[in-house]
Parts: sequence; C-alpha cells; structure tokens
Amino acid sequence: MKKAVYPGSFDPITIGHMEILQRAVEVFDEVTILLAVNPNKKSEFTVDERLEMMREATKDIKGVKVDFYPGLTVDYCHKIGATHMIRGLRAVTDFEYEFQLAAANNYAGPDIDVVFFMARKENTFISSSTINQLHLGGVDISPLVPPIVVEMYKKHGK
Ligand code: ADP
Repeated sequence: MKKAVYPGSFDPITIGHMEILQRAVEVFDEVTILLAVNPNKKSEFTVDERLEMMREATKDIKGVKVDFYPGLTVDYCHKIGATHMIRGLRAVTDFEYEFQLAAANNYAGPDIDVVFFMARKENTFISSSTINQLHLGGVDISPLVPPIVVEMYKKHGK
C-alpha cells in the first residue's frame, strides 16, 4: 500500500488544498492530510478548529485520513510507513520556499520523497492568508472554501 502525507497549516483549508488532495488520492492508496505547525505563521484558527474543518471537508473522499503532528513531518512519515510527502505549487514565488523546504526534508529524511502537484490555473491566487484577508474585507469567500469553513468563520463571530 502506497502511503503519502500532505502536510500544511490549513488555516483554513481551501478548495486549492482540496483539489491537490483529490489528485493525490488518484496516485496514492492512502493520503494523510497532516496539520503541521509552522512557527513562522500567525494562525487564524486553533488546531482543534482546523482539524475539525479538515475532517469535515474530507470525510467523503476515500483514502484520506486527517491527523496532527507537532514534530517533523518526515518523522510522522516514518511512524505511519509513508514513502512520500505531497506539496502544492502555485507560482514561482512558491518555488523558492518549497525547494528549500524539500531540501531540508530530504536532509532530515532522505528516504522520503517530495511530490509536487501544480495548482490548477484558476486556483493559483487561493491561499489561506488571502482567504482570511478577503473575508475580513467583507468579500464572499464561500466559493473558495469548503462549507464548514464558512460556518467556522460564523462561529468566530466574523
Ligand atoms: P504551509 O504553511 O506548510 O505552507 P499551507 O496550508 O499554506 O501550509 O499549504 C500547504 C501546501 O499546499 C503548500 O505546499 C502550498 O503550496 C499548497 N497550496 C496551498 N494553496 C494551494 C492552492 N491554491 N493550489 C495548490 N497548492 C496549494
């Protein structure tokens, strides 16, 4: 069984993440969408809220699991027997960061290979921080996120 891990901040999960995930399950038997902590990012949602949104949004996709791991993603991959890590690429600006991250992951876990999926062109502008900014500015973000995310913003009173 080929297992992969898709790590990220998912703050919140967007249709861009969902699209990458849908394509990843076509390639791997099991994909774990992993909430990993990025200390460089200030978060909008708590870990529990993000996990709830990830679980609800992916519950009908066969072969997808959701988890949280506070340590290195390569360690998590070893723990569950995953051979690949999945990341998405939107633009050239993503490339530098992703290339460096892939090199660091390769140093930490040389046996774990990183696979990149290119964003669909209509999703290239979608990032969690853009969603947060658009929502804060009063723009309807419901076409860009799973329905549970809209509910979670409401719970936040935003
Ligand atoms: P991180 O903080 O680890 O970058 P994100 O949740 O922002 O976490 O993103 C996780 C991964 O998903 C990254 O590889 C990112 O490039 C990718 N990604 C985010 N949004 C999109 C999108 N709209 N299309 C394709 N890939 C995306």
